[in-house]
Amino acid sequence: MQKRILIVEDEPAIRDMVAFALRKGEFEPVVAGDAREAQSAIADRVPDLILLDWMLPGTSGLELARRWRRESLTREIPIIMLTARGEENDRVGGLEAGVDDYVVKPFSARELLARIRAVLRRSRQDDEEGSVAVGPLRIDGAAHRVFAKVEGSEHPVQIGPTEYRLLHFFMTHAERVYSRTQLLDHVWGGSVYVEERTVDVHIRRLRKTLEPFALDGMVQTVRGAGYRFSAS
Ligand code: CA
Repeated sequence: MQKRILIVEDEPAIRDMVAFALRKGEFEPVVAGDAREAQSAIADRVPDLILLDWMLPGTSGLELARRWRRESLTREIPIIMLTARGEENDRVGGLEAGVDDYVVKPFSARELLARIRAVLRRSRQDDEEGSVAVGPLRIDGAAHRVFAKVEGSEHPVQIGPTEYRLLHFFMTHAERVYSRTQLLDHVWGGSVYVEERTVDVHIRRLRKTLEPFALDGMVQTVRGAGYRFSAS
């Protein structure tokens, strides 16, 4: 079945170009010009991935990404942000908001499709990966959910897609130190587009995710070496 991709972009020329590229790439494009149209497209049917323009009239792409990461319906949909050159410095802000990847305008259809396929491949791998438990944390691989045991009872952990992959990798490779480059290779699939500081951003987000359960200390910084996930 064709993957459905929602394009949220206010410029009709770019929207049409992207929709055309997606159809050629055997995806099913759905278009929205602003936040309101995007919401109704999602309510109609949840897409497999969202291409989100940074600069939108009214609600910005960044605000939308944040909102979608908070809501259970949209939390796990991968988001690729479309940015103009010069907005690149805002990338960290976008990553903090839970965006999975970026494409800088002007981009080629080939580059866009490559990024989309990489992001979709990553989220599919997650589904195929199994369940794992380390200390008070448990991942239900089939349900794609994380649980934390606090004082004998399990609580669901609200987690973004990249943090989920990162946590899954850590939990299946606990007590070992990994450099940022190694984490990029394992968790991001060695994408040449992702910078090393991206790892730090997602580590920070993962810690914040685990903080309410007082488990953020499981993600340890190893000075000059990288990161380690530890049950102790
Ligand atoms: Ca725009």
